[in-house]
Amino acid sequence: MPVGLYVHVPFCSAICNYCNFNRGLFDASLKTRYVRALEEEIARVSCQPSVASRQSADTVYFGGGTPSLLEPDEIARVVRACEGAFDVAADREVTLEANPETVNQARLAAYREAGVNRVSFGVQSFRDEELRRLSRLHGADRARAAVREARDAGFDNVSIDLMMWLPQQRVTQWLESVDAAIGVEPDHLSLYLLEVYPNAPLKDDMARARWSQAPEEDAVAMYLAAMERLEAAGYEQYEISNVARPGRRSRHNLKYWTDGEWFGFGCGAHSTRSGVRYKNVSSTEEYAERIGCGLSATTDVHHLTPEERLGDALFTGLRLTEGIDLEAIGGRYGLDVWSRFGGDLAPFVDAGCLLRDGPRVRLTRQGMLVANEVMAVFV
Ligand code: SF4
Repeated sequence: MPVGLYVHVPFCSAICNYCNFNRGLFDASLKTRYVRALEEEIARVSCQPSVASRQSADTVYFGGGTPSLLEPDEIARVVRACEGAFDVAADREVTLEANPETVNQARLAAYREAGVNRVSFGVQSFRDEELRRLSRLHGADRARAAVREARDAGFDNVSIDLMMWLPQQRVTQWLESVDAAIGVEPDHLSLYLLEVYPNAPLKDDMARARWSQAPEEDAVAMYLAAMERLEAAGYEQYEISNVARPGRRSRHNLKYWTDGEWFGFGCGAHSTRSGVRYKNVSSTEEYAERIGCGLSATTDVHHLTPEERLGDALFTGLRLTEGIDLEAIGGRYGLDVWSRFGGDLAPFVDAGCLLRDGPRVRLTRQGMLVANEVMAVFV
């Protein structure tokens, strides 16, 4: 199976109050050094002792941070570096995560010229007051315009991220955003539940302004109602948090859920290949410096045990609506999976959270609500 290529872009125009990603404020001179370092790190792949031969790749994913803060010619240089180091398939998927306020039609057209063929907008909400509470820089109109501009620029693969269970958001307000999202006709949607981390500035903002999150049963209602509306609008759920029109599933993200392999480039990026997990240094400055001095950016190497590899394959595969093929995975790792885990999984089958269908096991929609408990069986 061809590998996926993930490229991390850690720059943001402002730091959102809920964010715990690996990111920092935009710095033009650091960005220039960073892009050069990315090119260099990618070019060095062929010299890595762990890479025996030139590999085929069929996805490139620019994630962040805010990758749309890179100029189109910088994105083009990184895509070219990928083509130089890998056999990148002609029918590749090249995704750029973009914040609505960073683009216009001309810029999006230039990204297409640079080789990007899928754009994923961090919209989060179509209600301005909710966006303000999250300290996002865009408003709902800008998000709508960005999707239109992407279409006008020729993108036939557009994704939107939405977040639910926002401060002060109740079910009806959440569904307004879902309806608005359906209204702009994206090809793919990712729905995330807001997690308020203990040290997130949002936690203080919420305490100060007395904002609250709806009760947990409302979060459940938000999820179930959104999935129903999206299905009625022609989207198919294929993963716990993701829906797509036919043929528009995220090929890159599917590698994470189908026991695939990928190279990660940039600060904090992970790679998983042949049962080994590599992690790059998290700091942007240190990453650029290490690469600039001829050092490797990788600071952590973990050889997964067969047990960990099996656990990962089951854990991530169960996120897919089609579930996992126990025979295929068992064959790959030399183990009868049901004999090993069946005792712990049976109560979930009895409770209607898991369905066993021949060699396949999958979560029911009810099971998706308690997915973490089910998956804990594997780790
Ligand atoms: S734009 Fe995204 S990565 Fe940047 S601070 Fe906001 S949530 Fe975090």
